[in-house]
Amino acid sequence: MRKRTKKIAFSARICYTFFMINCTLCPVQCGVDRTKQVGRCRVNGLKIAKYSLHPYEEPPLSGEKGAGTIFFCGCSLQCAFCQNFPLSRNERGKEISVKELVEIFHALEEMGAATIDLVSPTQYADKIAEALSLYRPTIPIVYNTHGYERIETLETIAPYVDIWLPDLKFCSPKLAARYTGRADYFEYASKAVEWMAKTPLSLDENGKMKTGTIVRHLILPLSSSDSVAILNFLAPLKEKLFLSLMSQYTPYGEIEQFPELKRPITEREYKKVLDAALDLGFPHLFVQDRKSASASYIPDWDY
Ligand code: SF4
Repeated sequence: MRKRTKKIAFSARICYTFFMINCTLCPVQCGVDRTKQVGRCRVNGLKIAKYSLHPYEEPPLSGEKGAGTIFFCGCSLQCAFCQNFPLSRNERGKEISVKELVEIFHALEEMGAATIDLVSPTQYADKIAEALSLYRPTIPIVYNTHGYERIETLETIAPYVDIWLPDLKFCSPKLAARYTGRADYFEYASKAVEWMAKTPLSLDENGKMKTGTIVRHLILPLSSSDSVAILNFLAPLKEKLFLSLMSQYTPYGEIEQFPELKRPITEREYKKVLDAALDLGFPHLFVQDRKSASASYIPDWDY
C-alpha cells in the first residue's frame, strides 16, 4: 500500500530564516548561523557599498542612461586580485533592510536605469528574493555573479531574474585554488552556466536585453591558455548566450605573493584569446577596449 505523503508548505520567510541560521547559499556551504557569525563571504546582514547608474556594463544592459547597479558587500569567492577588493573583504558598506532594498529598486527605476544590476548577490540571494517578492521592478533584473553558485540557490531566485550575468573565471582547478582557494570553482561555475544558458535570449526593438545570459571572462596575465580552455567549454553553448571578453584586468588587491598578477595583460595575450573566440565562431561577442585596464574604472564607493 502506498504511504500517504504529508505535504508541508514552507512560507518563503521560513526558508529565508533557515538560510540565515544554517547558511548553505553558495558551494562553500559553511552552515554558519549568520545572525551571529560570518562565513567565508565575511558578511551577515544585507550590506551595500553603492547604488547608481553605471554606463560601463555591456550595451544591452546599460541602455541610454546606464544599468542600475547595486554593489553588495562580501563575497564567497575571495579572489586575490578582486577588482572590488574593499567590498569583497567587507571593509566598506552600510547595512540596509529588505524594505530599503525595495526603495533602492524604486529609486533606480526613477533615475531611468535600463536594468536592475545586482552585483555580487550570491551571499544575499535569500534576501534579494524576499525584496523582489515584495516589489518586482518593471525593468529586467540582472544577476551579476562570480559564477560560483549552487543550482539549488539559483532555482530559488530564478523566478525573479531575467538576465544571468555570470563570470567564468578559471577552468583549471590549480589556477582557481591559487587565486581563490576554491579548487572546485569550475565544477560549480560550469554547471551554473549550463543551467543559466537555458534561459532564452531576447532583446527589445532598441537592442536592450530582456532575457538570457551573458558570460563574462576576465583575461588574466599569464593565463591565456586557461582562457582558451574556457572558450572551448563555452563553444557548444555559443548560440544560447552572449560572450563578453574582458581585457580590463588591473593589478589590485592582495597580489603580493603573485608576481604574475602585477601587470595588465599584454597585447599578445589579448589577441590569443580574441582569435580563439573568433575561430570558434561565437555569434554574440562583446569585447572591451584595452584602455579599460585602468584603476579609474573602479567606482568610488559611497558607504
Ligand atoms: S553565502 Fe557565505 S556563509 Fe553562506 S555558505 Fe556561502 S560563504 Fe558560507
